Amino acid sequence: MLKPDIYLTSVLEITPNLIKKLNGKAIILDVDNTIRQHKDKKIFDGVINWVNVMKSCGIFIVIASNNYRKSVEPIANELGLPCVSFCLKPFPFGLKKAAKMLGFKKENIVVVGDQFFTDIIGGKFLKFKTILTKPLKQEEGFFWGIRRNIEKKILKKILK
Ligand SMILES: [Mg+2]
Repeated sequence: MLKPDIYLTSVLEITPNLIKKLNGKAIILDVDNTIRQHKDKKIFDGVINWVNVMKSCGIFIVIASNNYRKSVEPIANELGLPCVSFCLKPFPFGLKKAAKMLGFKKENIVVVGDQFFTDIIGGKFLKFKTILTKPLKQEEGFFWGIRRNIEKKILKKILK
C-alpha cells in the first residue's frame, strides 16, 4: 500500500502523542517545503518551537534532505539537529543512513515530508511509518508543475 499513514496540512500538526500512536520514537524529517520555503529558504513560523517540543518529549529527529549540504547544514545547525544531505530519496541510501544515525528499528521511525514521490515512496520502501504534509507553497518552474500535478492525481486516488 502506497498510502501514507497520516496526511496533514503542516508539520506543526504533528504532536508527540501522534508519533507515539504510530509506535514512533524518532522522525526522519524533510526540509524543503516541509519546514522551510523551497525558494527563499525561509524557515516556517513555529518550526523552531515545534522541534523543541518534540525533543523535550523524547522524540529524536534527524534531517534528511535531497538538497545539497551547503543548503541543508545551516538549517540543521539552527535547529540543533543532525542531518543527511543529498539523500537521493526515494532511493534508500540517505534514508538508511539517517535511520542508522537514529539507532531505532524501522517500525519506530516515522518519515515526515511533503512529497509523495520522494518522502513517502522512499519511507514506505524501507517499511518506515510515513506522514505526508501539504507543501505550503507551490514550487516554481515547468517541471515542478508537472510533478505536482501528477502527485495531486495520485493522492486523490489513494487518499480517498
Ligand atoms: Mg520536500
